[in-house]
Amino acid sequence: MNSCGVSLTTAVLAFGDEAKKMAAGKASGDSQEESFTLTLEERQALGGMDSRLFGFVRLHEDGARSKTLLGKAIRCYESLILKAEGKVDSNLFCQLGHFNLLLEDYSKALSAYQRYYSLQDDYWKNAAFLYGLGLVYFYYNAFHWAIKAFQDVLYIDPSFCRAKEIHLRLGLMFKVNTDYRSSLKHFQLALIDCNPCTLSSAEIQFHIAHLHETQRKYHSAKEAYEQLLQTENLPAQVKATVLQQLGWMHHNMDLVGDKATKESYAIQYLQKSLEADPNSGQSWYFLGRCYSSIGKVQDAFISYRQSIDKSEASADTWCSIGVLYQQQNQPMDALQAYICAVQLDHGHAAAWMDLGTLYESCNQPQDAIKCYLNATRSKHCSNTSTLAARIKFLQGLHKSQSSCLSGTTEEQLLFSTGCAQYHQATSTGFKKQNEHLTLCSNSGPQKVADSHLPSHIATSNGQQGIIFTKESKPSKHRSLVPETSRHTGDTSNGSADVNGLSNHVHHTIADVVSGPNHGVSPNLLISDNPQLSALLIGKASDSMGTGTCDKVNNIRPTVHTKTDNSVVSLPSSAISTATSSPKSTEQTSTNSVTSLNSSHSGLHTVNGEGLENSQSSTKIDLPLVSHRSACQIIPSMSVSICPSSAEVLKACRNLGKNGLFNSCISLDKCPPPRPPTSPYPPLPKDKLNPPTPSIYLENKRDAFFPPLHQFCTNPKNPVTVIRGLAGALKLDLGLFSTKTLVEANNEHMVEVRTQLLQPSDENWDPTGTKKIWRCESNRSHTTIAKYAQYQASSFQESLREENEKRTQHKDHSDNESTTSENSGRRKKGPFKTIKFGTNIDLSDNKKWKLQLHELTKLPAFVRVVSAGNLLSHVGHTILGMNTVQLYMKVPGSRTPGHQENNNFCSVNINIGPGDCEWFVVPEDYWGVLNDFCEKNNLNFLMSSWWPNLEDLYEANVPVYRFIQRPGDLVWINAGTVHWVQAVGWCNNIAWNVGPLTACQYKLAVERYEWNKFQSVKSLVPMVHLSWNMARNIKVSDPKLFEMIKYCLLKILKQCQTLREALIAAGKDVIWHGRTNDEPAHYCSICEVEVFNLLFVTIESNTQKTYIVHCQDCARKTSRSLENFVVLEQYKMEDLIQVYDQFKLGSDRYALSLSSSS
Ligand SMILES: [Zn+2]
Repeated sequence: MNSCGVSLTTAVLAFGDEAKKMAAGKASGDSQEESFTLTLEERQALGGMDSRLFGFVRLHEDGARSKTLLGKAIRCYESLILKAEGKVDSNLFCQLGHFNLLLEDYSKALSAYQRYYSLQDDYWKNAAFLYGLGLVYFYYNAFHWAIKAFQDVLYIDPSFCRAKEIHLRLGLMFKVNTDYRSSLKHFQLALIDCNPCTLSSAEIQFHIAHLHETQRKYHSAKEAYEQLLQTENLPAQVKATVLQQLGWMHHNMDLVGDKATKESYAIQYLQKSLEADPNSGQSWYFLGRCYSSIGKVQDAFISYRQSIDKSEASADTWCSIGVLYQQQNQPMDALQAYICAVQLDHGHAAAWMDLGTLYESCNQPQDAIKCYLNATRSKHCSNTSTLAARIKFLQGLHKSQSSCLSGTTEEQLLFSTGCAQYHQATSTGFKKQNEHLTLCSNSGPQKVADSHLPSHIATSNGQQGIIFTKESKPSKHRSLVPETSRHTGDTSNGSADVNGLSNHVHHTIADVVSGPNHGVSPNLLISDNPQLSALLIGKASDSMGTGTCDKVNNIRPTVHTKTDNSVVSLPSSAISTATSSPKSTEQTSTNSVTSLNSSHSGLHTVNGEGLENSQSSTKIDLPLVSHRSACQIIPSMSVSICPSSAEVLKACRNLGKNGLFNSCISLDKCPPPRPPTSPYPPLPKDKLNPPTPSIYLENKRDAFFPPLHQFCTNPKNPVTVIRGLAGALKLDLGLFSTKTLVEANNEHMVEVRTQLLQPSDENWDPTGTKKIWRCESNRSHTTIAKYAQYQASSFQESLREENEKRTQHKDHSDNESTTSENSGRRKKGPFKTIKFGTNIDLSDNKKWKLQLHELTKLPAFVRVVSAGNLLSHVGHTILGMNTVQLYMKVPGSRTPGHQENNNFCSVNINIGPGDCEWFVVPEDYWGVLNDFCEKNNLNFLMSSWWPNLEDLYEANVPVYRFIQRPGDLVWINAGTVHWVQAVGWCNNIAWNVGPLTACQYKLAVERYEWNKFQSVKSLVPMVHLSWNMARNIKVSDPKLFEMIKYCLLKILKQCQTLREALIAAGKDVIWHGRTNDEPAHYCSICEVEVFNLLFVTIESNTQKTYIVHCQDCARKTSRSLENFVVLEQYKMEDLIQVYDQFKLGSDRYALSLSSSS
């Protein structure tokens, strides 16, 4: 629990001394106010207050004293800092940050934290600081930075007392960033934690269900929502929201039966939702939409009326009302409703379009044009091109003739079929007054004498002329009114038969949340989370009423709920400061702060140059907690570790006796890992397309020539193409041809990726309008036989197309002008869909005996199994890493950008007959690519992305590019980033190897730590592997040896410390041992590797299922581990012995090892 690195009491007490001095000063004539001193009691009370209390401290009513105390403390600290003239203990700033945070004065908290950050070199040891900083960033929607700060906390202190709160917020932020996988993981980690948190577990479950819905996994979402409804004592607000969500999903999606059935379900859910919360304007609105869609007009009006009464005005509601009126042939009422909608939200594209249609139908094309123009200006307008065409048409119409709109051109008919009904209405005159449906009975639609609609409103914000009702007042909660997810896939509503342009246009979630930046738009969280908003509105408004600081309110800071546009200003300016100027003037002195956002920013720090953009005019300057320290997973070690190992061991043993670790060797925590900044100096532009290191083999002797191995593993060569390997070794690649594969195992499973066929050096969005990094593909499965069929038919088809083109070309050559015109106007997309057969597992020795045997002809260093391959020392199978995988391709099949698992090397042989094109970026640029991924809302480790070569060129990232022909082996060196596209029809085989080099080991461990930081599982269990290496391998490279030894030492210390702590707490450690090839263990919750001491629930232990937890996850579910047994797999003596006997080997031995393999 005591996770704060600095003792807060020390800070406060230090202040106490200062206060005494101040008091003395006061006696000597300085006139200070009494409030500038703190009593001992006050100081003691303040000693326990830091960021960890955020959301849990009450500041009003009973908590008013805390508030007063915090205010007083802040005044004292501020005056003290003023007096100290720069010589201030940095902890004071940290504490000042905490106090301001607790008082929700975010800008002051930020600036205090910033000062602390700039003064304190090892700020990263202070979990409470990082947590407070994360909360402030979160408040400002600076998700990019908030995520980093929170990840820092979890990395340096996995047992942090607010880990649950952090996971919850990470889940929310990743959801907004469309990183759904990470989002789900963090929500689940929050859910298993039984510690207190600002959201209830029902609310977290709600978010998980909503996450499914956001990903359009409607059936899983429905299941999760329904399961949530079974929860006992489900809070009414959550219940109402869940039912509302279910209702709306049934209305929009085809989850059950026909339209009548699904609407009846939807209505039932919404009615139940209203039973749980009768005041939800949103539910009333949805209910109205449901009634409207089944023609229950009267019910629809009543529901809309209720909605407006309950939730203040919403543009969506008014727009729907307009549609309903329009359908009822009440154009004047429709007009008023639409005006209301655009008054509330001037950017409401749907309302503008509906209004335009209305004008058109009343033969007022000029007004219609104005409305359509307004619609196209809205960022939510999704069919701009159709609208533009319509505007053009109307303008043309106006020029040619201004009489009648019921033209006979095809275009006209196509366009206005939806308004046909309405045309009819206008021609027959308006409905009789007594049939008039009334909604705004007390407001009374403005009476207009003739059938022409007032035309003056279309151009502006529609304020003139129309007297409007109380309902139209702008809502405080406008930004909370859901727009996005509510309307996803929404095609059927009241306006369904008013088709075409007048249909409601709803942007999808993807459009909204895949914005260009990392949560820069403050509205994102809201728009993405109408449910959360809904969940919180109630509570927030409660707290507003009573004036209390509701804890839930903190997660959705008040700034979000204020008004539409003002929300944007402060946070975005704060963020833009962060991205554009990597340092504030203040931070320049630390000379090591760079922005993760800017790939170039690292340059400033390396050469210590001044900053171009260092002026910070904004009040709020986000501190940039990033690259202060380089990636220091393996600190540069002195050789001294080795001689002193005996002492270390003694110290370790002593640990068991007196519980104190008295070694002089510091095994303290490492700073959180950071991606490397762009290498400096930047490469000149003409060096950005380097030639690919290639080796041409003529015969078998060439292949076994030792320098080949050295060349490949040389860190200076990120990739090596070994040309003609198969020929030189007389490998029978035919064993991997599609024909042989089908004969061998036709029913074998193939994972299929459905992709878009794109030019190899470009990646376009599906519509072909812009280049993007995201490259998504759908996953499915088939068999080798079926994929083979597809591969063959794809080839046939292409032959046929080729022939057709040839004939066409003949025709065209007669008329050259057409050809050139066509090519000039050629547009990207729509793209053809292709299927890529990937990750076909060839691990089974019986099934693939011949194939695997053929690969033993390879030189040792590229072989699947060899003594010099680290992956052969793991002791168990890691599918696709120390086993072979096969890929079956058609042209365009893409392996998106990636580094190999844990940065291991990889070997890839092209079987042919076609070629593959490779793109390769050296390891030290991975940080730059990681930045690009983050900017594009992609997860570098988990998402699929295809780099934009222009971006890379601009960022001075070198890209190796080459063709891999059949029989060529591509060696990807440790950590090299690469992406591959098939040029022709071909198969490839690939696997990983781990050469016994310092570079490989270092990069593997670094990635192991980075994975931990990112909550991603490491496929290679590096701890387990390191111990196996110590047991099995003599290492002759001193650097490699030191690194392994250091890691072993750290693990040894951890094991010993944990064991002691458990025993001291009265927890039995039960001997369990391990079987010979037992795989390494991972925590079933957080997927971190668990070594030696396994935490297994009593139940699982009894059932002998042995589901493993790490200590932190175990404690989250059971604080004092009462539900767990601790199983021990190694004797401490044994580990110590292995450690002791692991010694630096001689060169001769190392040589004999590699030649024996
Ligand atoms: Zn865990």
